[in-house]
Amino acid sequence: MRNICILGSTGSIGTQSLEVIEALGERVLAIAGNRNIGLLERQARKFGVGYVACFEEDCAKALRIKLKDTHTRVLSGMQGLCEIASLPQCDLVLNSVVGMVGLLPTLAAINAQKTVALANKETLVAGGALVMEAARANGVAILPVDSEHSAIFQCMQGQQPIQKILLTASGGPFFGKTKGELANITPAQALKHPNWSMGAKITIDSATLMNKGLEVIEAVWLFGIKPQNIEIVVHRESVVHSLVEFEDYSVIGQLGVPDMKIPIQYALTYPKRLPCAVKRLSLTDYGTLHFDKPDYETFQALGACIQAIGAGGLAPCAANAANEVAVELFLQEKIPFLKIGEIVAEAVIQQKNADKYSIDDILQNDLQVRQWVRAHYETNR
Ligand code: MG
Repeated sequence: MRNICILGSTGSIGTQSLEVIEALGERVLAIAGNRNIGLLERQARKFGVGYVACFEEDCAKALRIKLKDTHTRVLSGMQGLCEIASLPQCDLVLNSVVGMVGLLPTLAAINAQKTVALANKETLVAGGALVMEAARANGVAILPVDSEHSAIFQCMQGQQPIQKILLTASGGPFFGKTKGELANITPAQALKHPNWSMGAKITIDSATLMNKGLEVIEAVWLFGIKPQNIEIVVHRESVVHSLVEFEDYSVIGQLGVPDMKIPIQYALTYPKRLPCAVKRLSLTDYGTLHFDKPDYETFQALGACIQAIGAGGLAPCAANAANEVAVELFLQEKIPFLKIGEIVAEAVIQQKNADKYSIDDILQNDLQVRQWVRAHYETNR
């Protein structure tokens, strides 16, 4: 039995991970969340965790009172997240926090030589070079949890080096729509995803195709592949989770029902496969699967991300930071839907390149881009 630490335990991936871990009979050593202290308390009691970390200090205080009859220690802030990501008794850290906030805890886990199951794609987008270098230096495995990257990883097992990745995309709720039709999209409309049930931020990222842009960058770092060797294929049914092409043009894909429990469990049991509590795939129930080209014109964020990883340096970090704030402003109805992609594209163009950068450069750049987006777009609709 291993000791697992889950960062972002109250989110969509976090709660499903706890179900998978419970079914596998592994031990949850520590959990971390942001503001949902009610759920953190229930999770802490149910799994008898040793540690809980709350990002917000006032939430940590409230949680300490709620859990004072238990042996659970409550930590707070970025320091608390990093501390539970590097506990000596911990064997594996599953990082499913949303956004850049996951970067330092991922690095803390790697530097403490923990295996990392990574669902926090922003970590690799903003700090891919540093994260992968730290993983190499520490001999640590980074196991992808994102469904497409898990698919690619599964297709690569026992195979020769890959020539090309075919990264599938559901296309989100607005596939086939024109810019004109998307001008007045509301947050409620954008929050309805056809196939996957996920948190708000990633659902908006799916609607803008920013999610696929982030995933291209994530794939570049995880699999050491050039961006031009990644082809994005819109696949509405989300049954083929991605494919890999080899030198002989043989293509291997991974299929399954759209259920995150499969990639979560594979990251936890790798290289083994165990029974998983999901529906079985019935291809004849689907009958037909569709594949299309993405619309870069309407979904500007996607092209901006590809441009960013091509430019390298801090450009992907800028794209991510701009998007995180733009999504927040859209959800607050301060900017229209299409503005998200425009803001990301502008942030990438404005980013001055840096060949060498440190973790401090990333954090500073992230902050500057966030301030720039707020200063320019917070009030003008
Ligand atoms: Mg994905």
